[in-house]
Amino acid sequence: MQETSASIEIVPLPAFSDNYLWLIHDGKHALIVDPGDAEVVESALKTRNLQLDAILLTHHHADHTDGAASLQQHWQCPVYAPDSDQKAYEALQARRVKAGDHIEFEHFRALSCEILGLPGHTLDHIAYYIGHRHLFSGDVLFGAGCGRLFEGTPSQMYASLQTIATLPEETLIYPAHEYTAHNIAFARTIEPGNAQLKQRAHDAASLRAQHLPTLPTDLRLELATNPFLRCEEISRHPEFKGRHAIDIFTELRSRRNDF
Ligand code: ZN
Ligand code: FE
Repeated sequence: MQETSASIEIVPLPAFSDNYLWLIHDGKHALIVDPGDAEVVESALKTRNLQLDAILLTHHHADHTDGAASLQQHWQCPVYAPDSDQKAYEALQARRVKAGDHIEFEHFRALSCEILGLPGHTLDHIAYYIGHRHLFSGDVLFGAGCGRLFEGTPSQMYASLQTIATLPEETLIYPAHEYTAHNIAFARTIEPGNAQLKQRAHDAASLRAQHLPTLPTDLRLELATNPFLRCEEISRHPEFKGRHAIDIFTELRSRRNDF
């Protein structure tokens, strides 16, 4: 599945059991988000005859960073990484970026790229918001779900999801894992009466049956079906009536851990 915007194409490269490494290219030059596996990226570049211009890292976990060193060495390209003292970034001599920063890519001058700070999954987690339309959300927001809290608190993760929720509803979101179907199954235990969620379950199942990605997703669909973005709405359901959104978020995240 491919998404286009102006002259760029964004392609998910499947890796490991359920990761997507997102390749952004214009037919000649390319950027890669979270290259956990260098081989997968090299082979995609070769097939399409592309040059790698930059590597974008959202957080320090190995499934997102392990291919960066080999790619950087081959392509002599910059690596962008969160502004934290993780050893992985030091070894890469990464350019550190933080919330509010804007970066520019030589061959993609028309594409703006803003950094969002989204702590919760890890404390240093960032997202890349490209071309005022494409959000590379790493392990923060997934299709119908959100990342586990490895380093941050529920309030940090909740605030990070709220930051995403302020973007335009047309925003296309490119998470790093294919967890959508399982997330939907969980979401339906929370909101069994949500008709859009029921439809989404059907859509996701049919895509997965054809071995197609359920991603990217978009913010409008997430706002309607992702329980972690719907804590206010859920606070009006009988089971959760009157509870604070953050309290509901905390409980949903913990229930999802055991689902
Ligand atoms: Zn992670
Ligand atoms: Fe991951």
